[in-house]
Amino acid sequence: MSSCKEEDTQQKWLWVNGPIIIGAGPSGLAVSACLKENGVPSLILERSDCIASLWQHKTYDRLKLHLPKQFCQLPLFGFPDNFPKYPTKRQFISYLESYAKHFSINPKYKQAVQVAEFDHVSGFWKVQTQNFQYFSKWLIVATGENAEPVIPNIQGMDKFKGPVMHTSLYKSGTEFNNQRVLVIGCGNFGMEVSLDLCRHNAIPHMVARNSVHILPREMLGISTFSMAMALLKCLPLRIVDKFLLLVANLTLGNTDKLGLRRPKTGPIELKNATGKTPVLDVGALSQIKAGKIQIVHAVKEITKIGAKFVDGKEGEFDSIILATGYKSNVPSWLKGTEFFTEQGMPKTPFPNGWKGENGLYTVGFTRRGLLGTACDAKNIARDIGDEWRKYKGFCKNFCISRNLSDSQGICF
Ligand SMILES: Cc1cc2nc3c(=O)[nH]c(=O)nc-3n(C[C@H](O)[C@H](O)[C@H](O)COP(=O)(O)OP(=O)(O)OC[C@H]3O[C@@H](n4cnc5c(N)ncnc54)[C@H](O)[C@@H]3O)c2cc1C
Repeated sequence: MSSCKEEDTQQKWLWVNGPIIIGAGPSGLAVSACLKENGVPSLILERSDCIASLWQHKTYDRLKLHLPKQFCQLPLFGFPDNFPKYPTKRQFISYLESYAKHFSINPKYKQAVQVAEFDHVSGFWKVQTQNFQYFSKWLIVATGENAEPVIPNIQGMDKFKGPVMHTSLYKSGTEFNNQRVLVIGCGNFGMEVSLDLCRHNAIPHMVARNSVHILPREMLGISTFSMAMALLKCLPLRIVDKFLLLVANLTLGNTDKLGLRRPKTGPIELKNATGKTPVLDVGALSQIKAGKIQIVHAVKEITKIGAKFVDGKEGEFDSIILATGYKSNVPSWLKGTEFFTEQGMPKTPFPNGWKGENGLYTVGFTRRGLLGTACDAKNIARDIGDEWRKYKGFCKNFCISRNLSDSQGICF
């Protein structure tokens, strides 16, 4: 739902009657729906040509939600009952499409926000895209923790003769059949892409430079995540971490022996402190044990035909896949506020990082996935809803004085 009526496509200045939300991913949709529930119209600006562009354009075919569906649904409108415990990427996208339809959310596409800044004189946020300038009293940042791929600067990368691709461009292992592939990174993306490569008869070599916690996706038939959440309600975090590691060692064995060192800090403590997510194993570990995914040391240098590793070994590869993760892009376009770190995350930690100054809000920057998104979206809608009821009076007078209809939204 757009609260802004465009009367002329040449128009360059648009005043938005309600908050501007930047990003039409799950977070942008969730906050727009919650605002609507509170009687507040909003306008979503999205750089891409569709909702949930990360899921539609930048994820691999075999992807399923990592967490059980009850932890991934957005507020006010749940998953269909017939969805499996771990919905596929396609199912998740179709759910998000139904969600947008249900709440009549119509983002304005191909609007890449270049600069957003609060104007202290007028008291409005000014948002600049390639062809419009939008003004609003509220700005909601929903551009995600995964807005841009992280491309590491590895010596010699430009010399490599084969293709180098980030996981955001990887769709399936079909094109890597019988190839020796170097997968750089051993988090969830590195593990899952390596597994997919195995299933397409490729020969993946996964670089494990950093330590990593690998946990089974389920323990005793219960999702590890659900179990951890339940235990955390009655036990201290460190005890829960000890329990998870005990069960992980019993079910998966000692991953250190496979070349996958466990961090000294427990999985939940580490996640809370650094945002580093433990790997939830969906089958890669058995392929590592079977020798079908080989673990290699950190890369020292990429050569024309392969790589040299820090342990002195060398290998020849046909392709390189960078499973090196993503980063926020907020610092590149949000100006004049100290609310975000240089890495583009709110300085105030969860659960209080959703509200900044001068009508600035953030949704989906909690490092807690869609559960964090739901929490932020509800908080923001409640907060703006209260203000909106007071502000609406101002809006009405403003509109009457200019002979404009506030039910349509206004532009100038
Ligand atoms: C592969 C993968 C699997 C995941 N699985 C789970 C899971 O199972 N459970 C879970 O809870 N979480 C999961 N997550 C984490 C998280 O929930 C998702 O990343 C989710 O998509 C976050 O939603 P978001 O709307 O905050 O960000 P995004 O989905 O990244 O959406 C942000 C939107 O903002 C747009 N945008 C960015 N910059 C601009 C700009 N300057 N101007 C205009 N638009 C812009 C982007 O195009 C994008 O559409 C997963 C993440 C990934 C990458």
